[in-house]
Amino acid sequence: MRIDILSLFPQIATASLAESIIGRAQQRALVEIHSHNIRDWATDKHRTTDDTPYGGGQGMVMKCEPIFEAVSALRTEGCRVLFMTPAGAPFEQKTAQRFASDCKHLILLCGHYEGVDQRVVDQLVHEEISIGDYVLTNGVIAAVVVVDAIVRLLPEVLGDAASAVEESFATGLLEFPQYTRPVEFQGLRVPEILLGGNHAAISQWRREQALAKTQTTRPDLLA
Ligand code: SAM
Repeated sequence: MRIDILSLFPQIATASLAESIIGRAQQRALVEIHSHNIRDWATDKHRTTDDTPYGGGQGMVMKCEPIFEAVSALRTEGCRVLFMTPAGAPFEQKTAQRFASDCKHLILLCGHYEGVDQRVVDQLVHEEISIGDYVLTNGVIAAVVVVDAIVRLLPEVLGDAASAVEESFATGLLEFPQYTRPVEFQGLRVPEILLGGNHAAISQWRREQALAKTQTTRPDLLA
């Protein structure tokens, strides 16, 4: 998979995605991630990327021209252009799974200020994506979240592919509680059932715990 991130702060994405699992996935050529500065496609003397909104109002709006230039320079046949926006469809695990399995090339467009000129959305964008019901200062932070969630699902990225099968949301439930050594810490013992080696009983216990956790924290998932 190839992912291009278009923003005014490419270093945020480059630095965040260079570490840990996603960094290693890039080193192993399991994914190619390029973070670009939209300003590189601005052609005027001041390399302007924003202007005041028609109709008045607060803040600045990102201009059409550099974004159209950038997307037409980067897009390939079959690629999908995603716009990060709080007004988009909620990004969920199933969205990440869909992109990981169906897409070879994604372009993530990140807004700043008040957002982007609507003509960009109307003409270039296939999907508007929100990472939650709150407003960030810029879309590159959302893009890092989206890229991380997608790339970890690509083949061979996780050391153990089963990790992505058994975790929260993959089964429709939140994950069961996990424990590791020591067996007792400050008087708190690991549940006995996990120490007995009865795998059927452990599976049953974990499912009950996952159901109870989901019922308490996210009853909407059960509904
Ligand atoms: N005026 C916009 C609105 O009310 O919907 C908010 C603009 S926000 C300050 C600047 C940029 O941050 C947006 O264009 C978008 O790219 C990004 N952004 C902010 N919150 C986001 C979220 N919850 N999900 C995805 N992107 C977000």
